[in-house]
Amino acid sequence: MLFYAAWLGDKDLPRNKEAAVAKLYASECANSICDEASRIMASYGYAMEYPVQRYLRDARFTLIGGGTSEILKLNIARDLGV
Ligand SMILES: Cc1cc2nc3c(=O)[nH]c(=O)nc-3n(C[C@H](O)[C@H](O)[C@H](O)COP(=O)(O)OP(=O)(O)OC[C@H]3O[C@@H](n4cnc5c(N)ncnc54)[C@H](O)[C@@H]3O)c2cc1C
Repeated sequence: MLFYAAWLGDKDLPRNKEAAVAKLYASECANSICDEASRIMASYGYAMEYPVQRYLRDARFTLIGGGTSEILKLNIARDLGV
């Protein structure tokens, strides 16, 4: 999805929907993976001594910056004519 959206961008073709789908999927995946990693590590997943807390915080921002997941879903639905 990412490479397809990037390829469309390289060709200067319309890519709003493809970029939104790639960003939505990647950011939601990053969050569920980091959340799972944090849960597996339990209290260490929260401790500053380990990098997982940092990954979780960084992943969290991808749900907001560059369009929140809710707004991306609205834009994708609009693009699909829903
Ligand atoms: C650390 C940080 C760095 C940033 N850096 C940049 C930057 O470099 N460049 C830049 O352009 N912006 C930047 N931003 C801003 C970021 O893009 C916005 O925070 C983001 O677009 C969300 O806007 P908002 O915070 O005003 O939330 P709001 O628009 O107030 O949304 C609040 C909540 O309501 C939901 N929501 C809003 N409207 C709807 C709707 N119609 N239907 C359903 N749900 C809805 C949103 O999904 C969200 O969950 C940054 C933000 C932060 C926190």
